[in-house]
Amino acid sequence: VWGNTFHQLGRGAADHLNKGESPLAQRYSRGTTMIPVTTFADKTVAVFGLGGSGIATAHALIAGGATVAAWDDGEAGRAAAEKAGIPLVDLNTAGWTKFAALVLAPGVPLTHPEPHWTVKRAHDAKIEIIGDIELFCRERNAHCPAATFIAITGTNGKSTTTALIAHILRSAGKDAQMGGNIGVPILALDPPAKDRIYVIEMSSFQIDLTPRLNPTVGVLLNITPDHIDRHGTVENYAAIKERLVMAASSAVIGVEDGLTASGNACDEVFHVLDNTPDRLALAFSRKRAQTTGIVYFQAPILTRAFPSGANGCFEETLVDLSSAQTLRGAHNAENAAAAFLACELLGIPHDEIGCAIKTYPGLAHRMEEIGRVGNVPFINDSKATNADSTEKALLSFPAGVYWILGGKPKEGGIEPLRPYFPSIAKAYLIGAASDEFAKTLEGHVPYERCVTLDVAVARASADALAANLPNSTVLLSPACASYDQFKSFEHRGDVFRALVTALPGVTPRGKA
Ligand code: ADP
Repeated sequence: VWGNTFHQLGRGAADHLNKGESPLAQRYSRGTTMIPVTTFADKTVAVFGLGGSGIATAHALIAGGATVAAWDDGEAGRAAAEKAGIPLVDLNTAGWTKFAALVLAPGVPLTHPEPHWTVKRAHDAKIEIIGDIELFCRERNAHCPAATFIAITGTNGKSTTTALIAHILRSAGKDAQMGGNIGVPILALDPPAKDRIYVIEMSSFQIDLTPRLNPTVGVLLNITPDHIDRHGTVENYAAIKERLVMAASSAVIGVEDGLTASGNACDEVFHVLDNTPDRLALAFSRKRAQTTGIVYFQAPILTRAFPSGANGCFEETLVDLSSAQTLRGAHNAENAAAAFLACELLGIPHDEIGCAIKTYPGLAHRMEEIGRVGNVPFINDSKATNADSTEKALLSFPAGVYWILGGKPKEGGIEPLRPYFPSIAKAYLIGAASDEFAKTLEGHVPYERCVTLDVAVARASADALAANLPNSTVLLSPACASYDQFKSFEHRGDVFRALVTALPGVTPRGKA
């Protein structure tokens, strides 16, 4: 949706240039949903990777006065750019010395498994390689360093925490601009202004492409081994994520989340920052905290302990999460704790943060309640593409689960989920994983081979309603990729939503 709007508005911004308005007016002309990048004015920039963020980058550079040489290995990306009026230059045959920089899409390998050919060409020509968030940082530094910038990273929970922070800030009447790795590319947001707050989700790939990253508040949720194929080693991956908080004026860090036998990366970075003069580091933890001052989760309450008296301790209740229906489970309490601290750092009063956490609408496909038939909720957790994610869902629904799972299986299948089998009333298998998962379930959980999602929804809802148990839940949490039957996990979740909302007697969420 944003793409269409952006393309129209992007052309609008270019028109301003042609009309000969002053550079400042061009930069900050109202009504343009874009951040013109002026720091490369009159230079030529190579832009490689023409997905949503690449196209937004090209528009932003052109609007700021740069000449763009855009390219993509794929025909689809080149066609999209051409349609958007972006000049294509075959970077295979171009002379690279004329480029001031290579702006790379975050999905393009910078280092691992091996540098992309454009990266090698840029190294040979001795030009810098950066990403769109770097362009934003330079623009903010040059024109409006007072604009608040919150950057969020971590292995898990980035999107939830980013959306929750933006929701809290908007509920408090702030102009929160949300983007980056979630939804809108950063350069398609509104231009930096003093009272504007950027809430930006960053993957490790994006951090890698942002050497001058300097957020006002950096949030590091957790680090577990992931994406090692793209970063070489766990240590390298952790080092990239740590950079986000090391470079921040204030940091919010999740502690006690194991990384390797050598120690906990998040704990270590917290202690370094905590002992650095003039730096503020706040910590949160899923477990009960040993150290005072840390926000922790004592289900269902987010709490903070302070020293009081000789050896005593005063516990401050921050938020009761029992009515936060869209933030079920301890992992979401972690995300809520991070969001709470980030917003507290910006001076949002505790009661406003607490109220907003309870009205957070949630993100689609992540334990999203679609609706109810009678007392039975139907939960769309299509984003759970591996056993780890499905574990979070099963932990959140401790009994009476009518579980729809399957798709393109991941290594290890659902073996790690055995401890949760007692909470499953029945399993409904779809897609390519059916044989493998049937073997794991055999003798432990009643199951049915449904092949397709429509059959699974019909059977699961009939069984859950017939059983009429107090805690019955129909849960789509596939523990599999979707590509055998769907275009994406979003597509799978959308199909589930359509099937559930068509059930007889359904009450869609929010309409009760
Ligand atoms: P990301 O943007 O980092 O991929 P999301 O917020 O989209 O994370 O959540 C994706 C899935 O990751 C959720 O459905 C849940 O299974 C799991 N998850 C969310 N938050 C956490 C967390 N703090 N710790 C561990 N797992 C989490």
